[in-house]
Amino acid sequence: MPRDGSVEAVRKRLGYASTAELVLHLPLRYEDETRLTPIAAARAGETVTVEGVIVQAAVHTRPRRQLVVELVEAAPESPRARMFFRLLHFHPGQVAQLRPGVRVRLHGQVRPGFFGDEMVHPRYRLVRADTPLPRTLTPVYPSVAGIGQTTIRRAVEAALADADLADTLPQDLLARLGLPGYAEAVRLLHHPPPGCDLAALSARTHPAWRRLKFDELLAQQLSLRRHARARARLAAPSLTGGDLLAQRLLAGLPFQPTGAQLRAWAEIRADLARSRPMHRLLQGDVGSGKTLVAALACLPAVADGWQVAVMAPTEILAEQLYGKLREWLAALGVRVVWLAAAVKGRQRRAVLTQIAAGEAQVAVGTHALIQDEVRFARLALAIVDEQHRFGVEQRLTLRAKGINPHPNALTPHLLMMSATPIPRSLAMSYYADLDVSTLDELPPGRRPVMTKLIGQRRRAEVIARLRDYCAGGAQAYWVCPLVEESDRLQLKAAEATYAELVQALPGLRVGLIHGRLKAAQKAAVMQAFKSGEIDLLVATTVIEVGVDVPNAALMVIEHAERMGLAQLHQLRGRVGRGGRESVCILLYGEPLGAQARQRLRVLRASQDGFSIAREDLRLRGPGEFTGARQAGLPMLRFANPELDVDLLQTARVVAERLLNTGDAAVERHLARWLPRGLEFLQG
Ligand code: ADP
Ligand code: MG
Repeated sequence: MPRDGSVEAVRKRLGYASTAELVLHLPLRYEDETRLTPIAAARAGETVTVEGVIVQAAVHTRPRRQLVVELVEAAPESPRARMFFRLLHFHPGQVAQLRPGVRVRLHGQVRPGFFGDEMVHPRYRLVRADTPLPRTLTPVYPSVAGIGQTTIRRAVEAALADADLADTLPQDLLARLGLPGYAEAVRLLHHPPPGCDLAALSARTHPAWRRLKFDELLAQQLSLRRHARARARLAAPSLTGGDLLAQRLLAGLPFQPTGAQLRAWAEIRADLARSRPMHRLLQGDVGSGKTLVAALACLPAVADGWQVAVMAPTEILAEQLYGKLREWLAALGVRVVWLAAAVKGRQRRAVLTQIAAGEAQVAVGTHALIQDEVRFARLALAIVDEQHRFGVEQRLTLRAKGINPHPNALTPHLLMMSATPIPRSLAMSYYADLDVSTLDELPPGRRPVMTKLIGQRRRAEVIARLRDYCAGGAQAYWVCPLVEESDRLQLKAAEATYAELVQALPGLRVGLIHGRLKAAQKAAVMQAFKSGEIDLLVATTVIEVGVDVPNAALMVIEHAERMGLAQLHQLRGRVGRGGRESVCILLYGEPLGAQARQRLRVLRASQDGFSIAREDLRLRGPGEFTGARQAGLPMLRFANPELDVDLLQTARVVAERLLNTGDAAVERHLARWLPRGLEFLQG
């Protein structure tokens, strides 16, 4: 195969679209082959490079087939030192090649062996007495099955020779930031000179690393900010009415809004009055009352004759939103409609017609609302609950719909709601162009949920307690263990638990809800639980967010140690919603490791979603928050916003400045870092 062709093949197998990207296939670590160790000085356990002359080589068949090669030190000073090396997999060519008298250089770990000190499957090459040693450290690259290090090295080498390594950023900027040039940084990372600070390379704190991280963060900031600017140029309907409706809504409530709710409402109201699209996240812990804020946000649009779309990721959640919004808004004479996959036939056509005619003022539903068949006459605002739980496809569709393709049409405002607070570092990177309102205050009278850690050994006791609890008229959840590997196993576990509890609690009405049920079945079970026809609801984590049954005051979470803290906190938020004293039992599998126990204790000690989320971020990393890693969307590959916060800060400032001055560096930089026009996932 021609040399060029094989480079292309390697590039494709590693998943890169261009040679320029192959340049950024960076080593995992390095091996030092710049120095030879005399065989006599090589100690078992060390990884060294030695050079020797073969004295004998033979294929042994016991204890298994292998090629055993013995060599003596090549350096004349200590000619008697010997070493063996063994190849368990070899081909005839190697047997022919490794003959007595041939000089070889080995790199590998020395082990005490059957014949004496040896290396098993070292990297080796045939050399002559004057073959130079490499002058730089040898990179070890991440690989995919079937591509050897030598092949990758050759391909990267070719890419380095071929690719455009010209700097995208001006010299004076780099000098000011104390960062090396791009070409210099990339070359150093592939071939660190001997004496290079290997610790800094592996900790990724070396200036060469910092340069690439900075570049990546800068590209992210440029891309996000450019979007923000594009959005700022879009026109949105300026919504200024609705104050009277808001007063009537608040006056009709059986409770006072919290200060935080009023603050968020004021921020949203101000955004809606502007003639550019709002792009705001309303974050607030479970139970902080985001739905009321959403209801208030609908009013300016409705009063000014526009429409609102309200969406939730699951049918259960959407249904609850619909229930609350209809209760509050219909009382003001607002026409609220419901659209989900389960709405079919004539009824679906009727709802679609009302939406298209502008008669439906507020449409609530699942992602059914962003299907092509749904045409709003005058959409002014989209509200998305728990937006991070929508599938990536749906988020992208939603986003695409948000930016209206018709030049004269107005772009709707966007309000996102989330109970998973975004830590500051993530907010600055992934959500760079998002405004945030925070509900940092729970409605009064909410009782903290007493949280207990109990081991599986005491399961029978817990079940007995459940019986007494429900006998007193309270309702309870039993959350089944999370089975990450498969949906099917998860379902089996839930069914087994259900059967067990039905048998153990003959006096109680037990229900089962899980992700495999059809939407209508789920809704029926939830309805039965809400109306008190079910005492104990056995559930998988489908009840995680938003479900609101105030009479449910006890929750058992089985194998809590398998779940993330934020998720447990969300689950726990399902109880403690009524006047009753509420309890959450974290039933853990035994033995429970020290770290797992510590994690669960965080939850026992705190009711504050924000501090719990921070702890979760520290323990589990950012991928869990953005959900982008699983989706394979362009995540940051080199930088970690939590650890590289100084670079992130700088990148923000620099991005802003480059955009303001219309610097040509912007295009150059984005062309290098986002060549396929992909955007960093956000919102
Ligand atoms: P979340 O922020 O988790 O979506 P919800 O909007 O579902 O919270 O509100 C949780 C419960 O608290 C609902 O039953 C809601 O009616 C009630 N609620 C909301 N605001 C207040 C308030 N200011 N005072 C008392 N109860 C409130
Ligand atoms: Mg909610």
